[in-house]
Amino acid sequence: MYYSENTVIYNNGKFLKAAETKTDLYGQTLHYGYGVFEGIRAYKTANGTKIFKAKEHYERLKRSAELIHIPFEYSVKELESISYQVLEKNNLSDAYLRPLVYCDPNMSLNKPTKVNLMICAWHWGSYLGDKLLRLCISSYQRPNPKSLKVEAKACGHYVNSILATIEAKEKGFDEGLLLDMHENIAEGPGANFFCEKNGQLFTPPLGNILPGITRATVIELCAKLRIPCTERHIRREELKNMDNAFYCGTAAEIIGIESIDNIPFPKQWSESAGAKIQEAYSNLVREKKLTPQLA
Ligand code: PMP
Repeated sequence: MYYSENTVIYNNGKFLKAAETKTDLYGQTLHYGYGVFEGIRAYKTANGTKIFKAKEHYERLKRSAELIHIPFEYSVKELESISYQVLEKNNLSDAYLRPLVYCDPNMSLNKPTKVNLMICAWHWGSYLGDKLLRLCISSYQRPNPKSLKVEAKACGHYVNSILATIEAKEKGFDEGLLLDMHENIAEGPGANFFCEKNGQLFTPPLGNILPGITRATVIELCAKLRIPCTERHIRREELKNMDNAFYCGTAAEIIGIESIDNIPFPKQWSESAGAKIQEAYSNLVREKKLTPQLA
């Protein structure tokens, strides 16, 4: 359950009981998937509850709205402050925050007249679990950037993610890996992809993927850990020659991949660059001391 009778959410300037809030069934977001959202994590740290990269997430929310012409009037600072209040009112510290910008009743395909913002939070464990993942290459491609603004975290785009996830699970895999329209590796339904060869990491460049905030953090950590990391297109045929791979995302954090299409990676996860990044990421978000290599 995401909320109980005591859960408080923020909705359009007010803090309300989640169980008592209502939404209009004629909303443009509900019918057409025309809305934008974020997924943010807060962690319990020695310095109190800290929202990880709140500024980056709210800047992306603003950019997502702008990219698809949804008016967005909030300041990043204001949203950060509201988010801390939502956590406090619900007594949450290790939590997942979900801001959603949704549109008013409007059955036309025009620009919205009025938009709404809600922010809720709940306790959420690691989204993809903590076991190594068995992936399959999805038959679904990520949306073509000439059809949609792929860089926007827009509600409707997630039909593609849901289709890919259902397909992977029906085939007995944990998760899918989607290609882009040129058949290069793109990303997971809700996470970005990295793979390792000879101690170097590779990740698809921006353009046909969601610009992940965890992805950017991994690239920063690589620089600190002196792990070479290159953004470049990766062909699906290259995967079988890779040593290891992982997914990263706010909800999934850093999670190792055991195999793709039943072809296992030869390197042990514990020996991989991904495992070092996983540890460094966990320390970073919890504001723990840096690992010796980072000191
Ligand atoms: N790709 C997709 C399609 C996603 O939904 C997510 C989750 N937001 C990511 C990548 C990872 O992005 P982030 O690290 O900002 O959570």
